[in-house]
Amino acid sequence: MAGNRHSNIAIFIPHNGCPHQCAFCNQRTISGAVTQPTAEDVRKAVKNALRSPRFDGSNAEIAFFGGSFTAIDRDYMIELLEAAYAFVNAGQVAGIRISTRPDAIEDEILTILKKYGVTSIELGAQSMRDEVLEMNRRGHTAQDVVNASQLIKKYGFSLGLQMMTGLYGDDNVGARYTARQLAALRPDTVRIYPTVVLEGTLLADKMRSGEYIPQDCEAAAELCAQLLRFFERKRINVIKLGLHASDGVEGSMVGGAYHPAFRELCEGILYYNLIRQTLREKYPDGGDFVVYVPKADISKAAGQKKRNIARLALDGWHVVIKGEDAINGNERRKCQIKPVHQQDSQT
Ligand code: SF4
Repeated sequence: MAGNRHSNIAIFIPHNGCPHQCAFCNQRTISGAVTQPTAEDVRKAVKNALRSPRFDGSNAEIAFFGGSFTAIDRDYMIELLEAAYAFVNAGQVAGIRISTRPDAIEDEILTILKKYGVTSIELGAQSMRDEVLEMNRRGHTAQDVVNASQLIKKYGFSLGLQMMTGLYGDDNVGARYTARQLAALRPDTVRIYPTVVLEGTLLADKMRSGEYIPQDCEAAAELCAQLLRFFERKRINVIKLGLHASDGVEGSMVGGAYHPAFRELCEGILYYNLIRQTLREKYPDGGDFVVYVPKADISKAAGQKKRNIARLALDGWHVVIKGEDAINGNERRKCQIKPVHQQDSQT
């Protein structure tokens, strides 16, 4: 996929078909949409997107997100798929992605999805602890996630799994357990969403009554940084970390972990850990250093509002971050550290 940026033409199916009202979900807020799209809306959205220079047929997928796609009225689902499939058939888009609930997957549904050019299926697993699923009124079990994932893979679809952190009744141990269970299912992609408490949800009520203390952004970022590292080591692509920055979420949020650049926060933590560990091993006595990282990673290495630099200074390491693309190493994050006097003598 190098050099060919993947992009989604996102079409939101708000709340339609959900047999449950999950404790954290205010579907209309997340999708920012209130009306059900028609087949004509799908055609218009795709045509509009294809006019943009950002898209070309080889990298764009039509993505039905935001609801329980396979649980909506069957005729309506097929209407939407037919509208989308016409673009796949004409070679204008690469495929179709859908997201749905783990208990809304069965042979018959998968046969239909295959027929209409669906390539990827994402399941909202959220947790692999049954008590957490129950407390958050998900209406499915961890075993449903296992069964649906296996069936999706058997049919040859790309499998995406979504998990949440900071749910009612969950903790960091539970989130790490969920991550391990999801990784064992060998998904192609993972999305991690720290819980954002939205107005009008059960979690908002429980938070106000003191029964539920949501995870704040700082704690969620520390945990999600670990989870990101975990999935990277398992060679599983984390394609999303944190809810999409949108006015809908920001306007309805009453608590929890939301940051418009949440992934950057997590990347910043991982860079801080890497740089600190290298400094501790090589230069435990502190001093002045230049830290070289790939140019694209300079702001991640410095951390949000340069907090990594400030934290390192508190421990006696005064660093300047510089971009250098010729750094070796197989890891996703790389750094090379030189004491300032050594760096000066080389230039
Ligand atoms: S299944 Fe998904 S869309 Fe439906 S209420 Fe739960 S989180 Fe919301």
